[in-house]
Amino acid sequence: MKVFKFGGASVNSVERIQNLGSLLKQFSGEKIIVVVSAMGKTTNALEKVVDSFYNGDKTTALQLLEQVKKQHWNTAKYLLVTNYLACEAKLRDFFTEAEWLLHDKPEKSYDYYYDQVVCIGELLSTSIISAYLNEMGIPNYWIDVRDILRTDNNFRDANIDWDFAQSKVQTVMVQVLQKSDIVLTQGFIGTTDENESTTLGREGSDYTAAVFANILNAEKVTIWKDVEAVMNADPKQFPDAVPIHELNYNEVIEMAYYGAQVIHPKTIKPLQNKNIPLYVKCFLNPSLPGTVIHRHTLKNLPPIIVLKDKQTMLKFSTKDFSFIGEHHLVQLYGLFEKLKLKPNLTQNAAISFTAVLDNHLDKIESLAIESAANFNVQVTKNLSLLTVRHYNKILFEKLTSGKNILLHQQTPDTVQVVIQ
Ligand code: ASP
Ligand code: MG
Repeated sequence: MKVFKFGGASVNSVERIQNLGSLLKQFSGEKIIVVVSAMGKTTNALEKVVDSFYNGDKTTALQLLEQVKKQHWNTAKYLLVTNYLACEAKLRDFFTEAEWLLHDKPEKSYDYYYDQVVCIGELLSTSIISAYLNEMGIPNYWIDVRDILRTDNNFRDANIDWDFAQSKVQTVMVQVLQKSDIVLTQGFIGTTDENESTTLGREGSDYTAAVFANILNAEKVTIWKDVEAVMNADPKQFPDAVPIHELNYNEVIEMAYYGAQVIHPKTIKPLQNKNIPLYVKCFLNPSLPGTVIHRHTLKNLPPIIVLKDKQTMLKFSTKDFSFIGEHHLVQLYGLFEKLKLKPNLTQNAAISFTAVLDNHLDKIESLAIESAANFNVQVTKNLSLLTVRHYNKILFEKLTSGKNILLHQQTPDTVQVVIQ
């Protein structure tokens, strides 16, 4: 059995959904779990709905939701004939649930509302795609993944209850797979034991695919993307980027850790644990080799470049000139945890500790205020963090020449600099 994951870009238009159908036809007779994201930029659009609602602007929130509705209805109209009415009714139910919520006053946390609204993106896309495939003679069974993936209530970054998932996969998914070759379900979402929807973190559909692959001992996972393969840098930032056709779990974990937008960082562990290979393939041209990620020792990897913009650097210095010790670090990491901030880079010096973080400006302000009781805090905004793995001197100099380097960290494998 295989697990396929289709991201937003692979289902962002009528043509691409039709393309998904043709692609699946090439695998007829095989058992496949198909995990799908929300269409195109739907997640971003739904985030805006939540923002307006949470800022008390219900009217805008409902208008923005109306736009999402129109887009989905139009897509469904183009794609469906016989299944249109049934599908429309299903979509309507998802929208109605979100609308009810938007009529309330925001009394709970932002993250809670985020998950209740944003989760519909995947429910809508999979409902349309499932109906379309059935109509095209590609029989499939649609599952609401929230019946299988139970999570805690850490909204927007929920943690999966593996025991629950394992037993539900056996009782629900395995049963369904006996009747239907294709099981179609949503990535990125889950539910708490109180039936509140949750999400697993942006781009989390990759992770969902890996969870199912792990539990079902899948032969492989394929992530279908609009790029030819995993690249050694983001081609939008570095036009000379080259494809890498073979990677191992370690390298991909490192790349994701340093901020490469290749694969959701949690995806690798469930696959590594069961030694399941992950393929990244181009849905526009499946005959291209793509990238395989597996457990192999690799030599001669090209330099891998990750450039993260929108970084803020905070330098915490002790007020009384005392050395930075464990108790200072415990205080600071306590604040990071409380504010859900994850430093991208840290550095210790005698009487100061420096952390570089994504620009979550309100959280950073809270961090600066709360730490000011014990530290002098210096904040520098709008920086970039450049990471190069498998670097060489010439490349490093080329990438940094003429730049103002505020911080530099280096190991034999990896060099990182903070640039102003
Ligand atoms: N739709 C979600 C997002 O855009 C999840 C995903 O695409 O994996 O982040
Ligand atoms: Mg996506």
